[in-house]
Formats: sequence, C-alpha cells, structure tokens
Amino acid sequence: MRYDDVSDQLDEILVTEEQLLARIAELAREIERDYAGKDLLLVGVLKGAVMVMSDLSRALTIPINMDWMAVSSYGHGTTSSGVVRILKDLDTDIADRNVLLVEDIIDTGLTLSWLHDNLMSRGAASVKIFAALRKPDAVRVDIVADYLGFDIPNKFVVGYGLDFAENFRHLRDVAVLSPRTYAESE
Ligand code: 5GP
Repeated sequence: MRYDDVSDQLDEILVTEEQLLARIAELAREIERDYAGKDLLLVGVLKGAVMVMSDLSRALTIPINMDWMAVSSYGHGTTSSGVVRILKDLDTDIADRNVLLVEDIIDTGLTLSWLHDNLMSRGAASVKIFAALRKPDAVRVDIVADYLGFDIPNKFVVGYGLDFAENFRHLRDVAVLSPRTYAESE
C-alpha cells in the first residue's frame, strides 16, 4: 500500500485518487451543462468536504462562488449521532441563489437532509447535492444525490478528507479503516 506508516491501520483501498478525479471531471461537465448561464454557489461542509470542494471547484470552468458551513457529526466515534448542530454558518446570503451542497459522504443521509431543508428555508432558488461517496443506508432517507461519485459498501472509510479522530484526512485515496484501529481506541 502507498501509506507505509499507517498501512497496518487500514484495510483495502476502496477508491483511488485517479478514480475520484476522473469521476469528478465527468460530473463537472454535467454541472456545467445544468448551470449554464445561471449563478452557482458551492457550499462545502467542513471539514470532510475540503478535498472534494478543492477538486470539484477546479474542475469547473463556469463562474462559481464558494462558501463553507461546519456542522457537528460523528465526533470521535464511528456511528452517526443523528444530531445536527451548526458550528460555523455561511458568510453568504443565499436568498435567490442556486446552491450546490458539496459533501464527502452520505451515510444515513440525516446531515444532508437537514442541511438541504435548512438552506431551502433561507430562500435559496435551488439546493442540489453533490456527494463524493454514498453508503447503502442512504436509501432509507428521502435524500437524492443529484451528483454522485461512488457507491461504497457499508464500511467506515477514511482519506480524501474523511477522518477518524482527526487522523487520515490527508490520504489521497479512500481506504477502509481497519476495525483493529477503532477497537484499540475504545
Ligand atoms: P450522515 O448524516 O449521512 O449519516 O453522516 C454524514 C457524515 O458522517 C459525513 O459528512 C461524515 O462526516 C460522517 N461519516 C459517515 N460515514 C463515514 C465514514 O465511513 N467515514 C468517516 N470518516 N466519516 C463518515
């Protein structure tokens, strides 16, 4: 594996950097067609979406703006709390704007479903969803990823912005965290 120092903490690589970049480029072409002649505000959800925001925004050739929100999610564990709290709000007034919410991963979908409704209630013209990854449980919630990178199995993954206790965010690929790693820290 590419990550010598941490490879004993990871199982297999699920999605490589090359696959992520190729898929994001395809989706960027779709977004350019869908938003041609319209304004577009990308809203990234900190901190996990930093990598995908960076790659998606640079893949786009149409004019865009970017803003960020931070909401509470898993803390240091590996299961969803279902509680959404705004830790950092947008700097932008999104009334009448076309918003594309950019997320790293949809698991239960609770976070995005809540964010989608919250942004619509501020008078956005439209709120669509871009997710780099999606897990199978996402189908249980009424949330549609308008632009989706990859469907992955129901395993806890790290890398490409995704962390475990703030570690592994910088890995270029998406890898499965070895259950040994979280067993040791519990
Ligand atoms: P949801 O509300 O869809 O259950 O959870 C979304 C958030 O949970 C994501 O933005 C991410 O922060 C976190 N999350 C869900 N699945 C994983 C995973 O496999 N690995 C990591 N590192 N975070 C995850």
